[in-house]
Amino acid sequence: MDMAVADVIQQHLIDPEICIRCNTCEAICPVQAITHDSRNYVVDAEKCNRCMDCISPCPTGSIDNWRTVLKLRAYSVDEQLGWDELPGEQALPEGVAAAPAPPAVPATQLEAAEQPFVASAWGATLPPWSAAHAYTNLYGPKTGPVTATVAGNVRVTEVGKTQGSDYDTHHVVLDFGAMPFPVLEGQSIGILPPGTDAQGKPHHARQYSIASPRNGERPGYNNVSLTIKRVLEDHQGQPVRGVGSNFMCDLKVGDTVQVIGPFGSSFLMPNHPRSNIVMICTGTGSAPMRAMTEWRRRLRASGKFEGGKLMLFFGARTQEELPYFGPLQNLPKDFIDINFAFSRTAGHPKRYVQDAMRERAADLAALLKDGNTCFYVCGLKSMEEGVVLALRDIAQGAGLSWETLGAALKKEGRLHLETY
Ligand SMILES: Cc1cc2nc3c(=O)[nH]c(=O)nc-3n(C[C@H](O)[C@H](O)[C@H](O)COP(=O)(O)OP(=O)(O)OC[C@H]3O[C@@H](n4cnc5c(N)ncnc54)[C@H](O)[C@@H]3O)c2cc1C
Ligand code: SF4
Ligand code: SF4
Repeated sequence: MDMAVADVIQQHLIDPEICIRCNTCEAICPVQAITHDSRNYVVDAEKCNRCMDCISPCPTGSIDNWRTVLKLRAYSVDEQLGWDELPGEQALPEGVAAAPAPPAVPATQLEAAEQPFVASAWGATLPPWSAAHAYTNLYGPKTGPVTATVAGNVRVTEVGKTQGSDYDTHHVVLDFGAMPFPVLEGQSIGILPPGTDAQGKPHHARQYSIASPRNGERPGYNNVSLTIKRVLEDHQGQPVRGVGSNFMCDLKVGDTVQVIGPFGSSFLMPNHPRSNIVMICTGTGSAPMRAMTEWRRRLRASGKFEGGKLMLFFGARTQEELPYFGPLQNLPKDFIDINFAFSRTAGHPKRYVQDAMRERAADLAALLKDGNTCFYVCGLKSMEEGVVLALRDIAQGAGLSWETLGAALKKEGRLHLETY
């Protein structure tokens, strides 16, 4: 057979047995090569240019799989969507050499970011230089989960109380007892809901951001807290009972939960003196912001806090749906600069986090100019573009080149996006 190396490719594949369906790769891919259905996340061989942007953000490593295949026999998207496990290597016809390792395509994300504007392309995949070391994947599908015990479960939104609905958000505390589970603010964990899905397979893990600081929800205890919104309708507004979120919101103190993780090695806070943190979030995207704020609050209380501004932009449909509204109000004004934005308050125009940011353009421009400032965005996927565009416009309004600044924010691990 007369085939050259050019006829052979290294096909990029996702391991369905390890993938926790977190959407991180799909959100980050600058050329929309990743897609999913209710079963699997898959890579379109026609679109993937092997830029490698998705590799390090993947919390489980399931994204980093490659198979040498004849280009003509590359696995289609439909084939991959049906997989329960990865196939082995294909036998290549005699005389056909294996393709070389996938080349990195330099700066693709920035080229793609220029036209049209792709917000996710500006997100960093490295942590800030002064972040602490994060442990990841201590417990996973291969090593097995760790059992945690529920130490607390309380509602943190007014909505369930005042409107008699179940559309509430819970603060759930999980205790790991004697099992090691070191975490940092900004990391997440995976919960394995009990039972099986429609195909009779165990439910895949659901990912939740940690809402407590590194030394525990209760300082000195081996526990973490989570902020979990009960999902009772799908993204199209159709009634549905989300498997993981309802399981978690219904837990009682003393119940046990199977946990994998921790995940995440880039959405981490800076630790150096005078480092500023700008937090932009909606809904449960407040979880990592609560963790970072609480860690700084504890440092300040112990006299170890060495300056640096904290600025928060927090959006929700209404005040009643905003998690931790009460406790946030109690934080000292000289410690954190809080800006709320409500999009469905009766009698008021819709206001989103990006609107609040634009109102504070002068302060944000000063922070953008300061190399000690890190920006964190977490919450609904739909917020991402508006927020990054607001940052770009604020930078440009202050005479800064977004191409230069945005590239620096990304390269220096100073702009982090986590939306779902
Ligand atoms: C990095 C990361 C961090 C996350 N952190 C948090 C967190 O801190 N708190 C939190 O509550 N969630 C968080 N999530 C979302 C969480 O992992 C689950 O997706 C969410 O709880 C829904 O899972 P479920 O099992 O209840 O719903 P499923 O049973 O998986 O889904 C039921 C239906 O609802 C739709 N759906 C799924 N999620 C939502 C949603 N959020 N809103 C509306 N419809 C939805 C699905 O498309 C499906 O049709 C995070 C996700 C990621 C990727
Ligand atoms: S390697 Fe790049 S192009 Fe390919 S799936 Fe990952 S992010 Fe997308
Ligand atoms: S676990 Fe990795 S491969 Fe799976 S959806 Fe998340 S980022 Fe993508």
